[in-house]
Amino acid sequence: MNAEIITSGAELLLGETVDTNSTYIARALRDIGVNLYYKTSVGDNVDRMALVVCQALERSGIVITTGGLGPTVDDVTREAVAQAIGRPLILYPECMARIEAIFARWGRQVGENNRRQAYLPDGASPIPNPVGTAPGFIVETDQGTVIALPGVPREMERLMQDTVLPYLRGRMGAAHVIIKVKSLRTVGLGESWIDERIDSLMRSANPTVGLAAHTGLVDVRITARAATEAEADAMIAEMEAQVRGRIGDDAIFSAGDDRLEEVTTRLLAQAGVRLALVESATGGEVARMLRSTAEGVQVVTAAHVVDGPEALAALLDISPAQLDADGWVSQMAATAVAASLIDTCEGGWGLAVLGDMGAHGDVYGEETGQTYVALGTPGSPEVRRYPYGGDGFLARRWVSVRTVDLLRRQALAQLAAGG
Ligand code: ATP
Ligand code: MG
Repeated sequence: MNAEIITSGAELLLGETVDTNSTYIARALRDIGVNLYYKTSVGDNVDRMALVVCQALERSGIVITTGGLGPTVDDVTREAVAQAIGRPLILYPECMARIEAIFARWGRQVGENNRRQAYLPDGASPIPNPVGTAPGFIVETDQGTVIALPGVPREMERLMQDTVLPYLRGRMGAAHVIIKVKSLRTVGLGESWIDERIDSLMRSANPTVGLAAHTGLVDVRITARAATEAEADAMIAEMEAQVRGRIGDDAIFSAGDDRLEEVTTRLLAQAGVRLALVESATGGEVARMLRSTAEGVQVVTAAHVVDGPEALAALLDISPAQLDADGWVSQMAATAVAASLIDTCEGGWGLAVLGDMGAHGDVYGEETGQTYVALGTPGSPEVRRYPYGGDGFLARRWVSVRTVDLLRRQALAQLAAGG
């Protein structure tokens, strides 16, 4: 079964509203095995919307629209669909009764505008809307089926779950398939490095294996289509074992939705770690990442951002000379700072992220930077040098992600040694 999505509203075309409705619907269709080939956005204009509905019906058996079901003149979906399928709008008394009941509860008269919401294309089945006034509708025609949903995401999602997905599953009948996705989330491996290792697996047709990169993190997504959930799970498990065999387990921090900072702070909390940290070039991003989780708020006991050696020396019991020997962006300085931070929090770890990413440059250009990350623990310190430069979002993000990963790996090591 092939479907397409039409989202409507001037705000979408003006770039003022991000079209999250089509993303939601696309995922829901994917999960039940309906093919989605086209997505269109159109403004609030009856003729243009009628035209895209006509075009969609020529290509696809199912056309799902969102938006334009409200009471105002710029809510044109009812008229546009009626025009596209060549049917009149007729009054649906049960819809009118519900609108009147809602208004009666509010102690208000139903205006002419709101009455419009009870008129649907002849032959349509209303979709009850328990979270808003406008009903959606499904209308089956010889050319195909149009499903009209409200634009407000919360309402659209509710109608999808309650009515549309059960309806589509019923229509799919025996063709119904389960699609399951599992993401192996990796950190610190380049996309092309992974690609080289799992190249042959990425040619598999079912399950499919794909990569999605997000600054410093790469997800390996395994997607299986099968008749039953158990079958899909088994296919995924077999592919997962092969992927892990090729890229190793170390860099895979999650096989679900957990973010790197969630996994890391959970491990740190389990290991009983308290952390004090100082950052320069990353401007507090490492602390922000860690403190974005419930455990992180407990784990990070102190976080400072400094902009030079004087500020550092003033903050910690370190002489400027100690920092100056190799410059304050150096392995020596980072190690000294990490060591002195350990003393500031009991039983704690000290983390220094001291860098110079250069001037405001192009991350992919000539601009080179250096960041030294030193992690002081009760064992010997771990020091890393990251060469990302160009003072931009990407360089800061790369260093921050790698630093959080260093914490994750140390926490794992500590847990392994302790138990
Ligand atoms: P209403 O009864 O509120 O008028 P409606 O069905 O007429 O609902 P719209 O008027 O098109 O829907 O949109 C209502 C609100 O929903 C918009 O203000 C917009 O913020 C949001 N919205 C509409 N379409 C989308 C979309 N595709 N993605 C995300 N949000 C959307
Ligand atoms: Mg509206």
